[in-house]
Amino acid sequence: MTGYDYDLFVIGAGSAGVRAARISAQMGKRVAIAEQDRFGGTCVIRGCVPKKLLVYASHFSEEFEDAVGFGWTVGERSFDWATLISNKDREILRLEGLYRQAVVRQGGEIFNDRAVLRDAHTVHLVNAKRDVTAKIILIATGGHSLRDTGAPGSECCITSTEAFELPTLPKSIVIAGGGYIALEFAHIFRGMGSEVTLIYRGEKVLRGFDGDVRDALEDSMRKKGIRLILNTTFASCERVGGQVKAITRSGETLMADEVLLAIGRRPNVAGLGLEHLGIRQSENGHIVVDAYSRTSVENIYAIGDVTGRLELTPVAIHEAMCFVKTVFEDKPTAPDHELVATAVFTRPEIGTVGLSEENALKKGHTVDIYKTTFKPLKHLMTGRDERTLMKLVVDAETDRVLGCHFFGPEAGEMVQLVAIALKMGATKAQFDATVAVHPTLAEELVTLRQKFATRAP
Ligand code: NDP
Repeated sequence: MTGYDYDLFVIGAGSAGVRAARISAQMGKRVAIAEQDRFGGTCVIRGCVPKKLLVYASHFSEEFEDAVGFGWTVGERSFDWATLISNKDREILRLEGLYRQAVVRQGGEIFNDRAVLRDAHTVHLVNAKRDVTAKIILIATGGHSLRDTGAPGSECCITSTEAFELPTLPKSIVIAGGGYIALEFAHIFRGMGSEVTLIYRGEKVLRGFDGDVRDALEDSMRKKGIRLILNTTFASCERVGGQVKAITRSGETLMADEVLLAIGRRPNVAGLGLEHLGIRQSENGHIVVDAYSRTSVENIYAIGDVTGRLELTPVAIHEAMCFVKTVFEDKPTAPDHELVATAVFTRPEIGTVGLSEENALKKGHTVDIYKTTFKPLKHLMTGRDERTLMKLVVDAETDRVLGCHFFGPEAGEMVQLVAIALKMGATKAQFDATVAVHPTLAEELVTLRQKFATRAP
């Protein structure tokens, strides 16, 4: 028993905070968690989960078209955005409740309040106007969408947060950015029938991903009728009547019902009291932590997006579990950020784990490249002009598979499984020794016999 009110006080009830609070409470620790907004954080309320529901909804337009090739006659179709949003909201409300219950059931205490740091062991609850103390404080406040392009008129634009709440489906939308959020929303809105233009400041979207995947995605987007405007940004935006007029630095004028900014995210740190405690932050405001998620103040830890390590829900949860082991089980455990698989929910999807060809070369590996592109069996019947790409980046010296990249249906599901093999250090010979499951897309992965190229750094 300590002289503090709690063993652990968690600020922020997103994926990271809730997991740390729940597991610590389950261990018998006295835990409190404060959340100023809705329980569940970005992932549950305004990120991964609602996004995936919208992704499912957006798939039906192509499914209806594809059904014809298999003999189906699909009658008149219509889509009601309001129904989708209200069904999505109902599901999110249910999940929010489960997140709360998960903490309460283990004996954790919830404060629906804004919490700020007073000193190393004291948290001030702003609305309740009172202080509480804790032996350990965990900051898991997450992040928010960047709303400022640096050009006039950003206030006319929405971010992904508002995109989930739009009262009507925009007939036309311009999306700025070339990352996960921009690309996922471009496909969501296109799938719903909106006219979509994506404007990206670089040469090719998805910087950091494997070059072949980036090419395949851009090609596919154009085929779907998504317009790509590259190498430029907004010079200005303004509301004109019911629309937004956006002028690009390349001199083009775009009119759309909405302009969505997906130009990155920033940590939720404003007013938390980090500065007066001397908690170190990076240039972008992320909280700087050591390998064990400890901040520059000994008893204060930070996990999840607020630390800006890898902004992914499963990583935040992993960091929470490592935090609990380190602090309450006396087993110092550093989160492992190597070989984290991710998916981008475009249509088709991208699944990726390990090094891209470009990064493997940059790291000094001589690599053997194995890749294939093909039309999936299903589309031989639908006539859809969609190709799948699979690529393995293999260390030429050790035969170890360094990276695996998919662009195709269910790529997210496939890459999760391949990640296990890569984590175990699998070699190309072991992939080859694995018997295929037929007929599947994934079988291509174990039948990639023909080396495409060997490249040296
Ligand atoms: P990203 O960092 O992925 O992408 C931001 C994009 O905006 C980049 O293309 C960047 O260009 C561009 N950009 C940055 N600043 C500006 C600017 N001032 N003007 C114009 N363009 C700009 O961020 P997202 O917001 O898409 O996503 C945030 C994070 O959330 C992701 O990194 C990911 O970790 C996570 N996420 C994961 C998902 C998943 O797992 N499926 C889904 C959604 C989000 P450049 O490339 O040139 O820097």
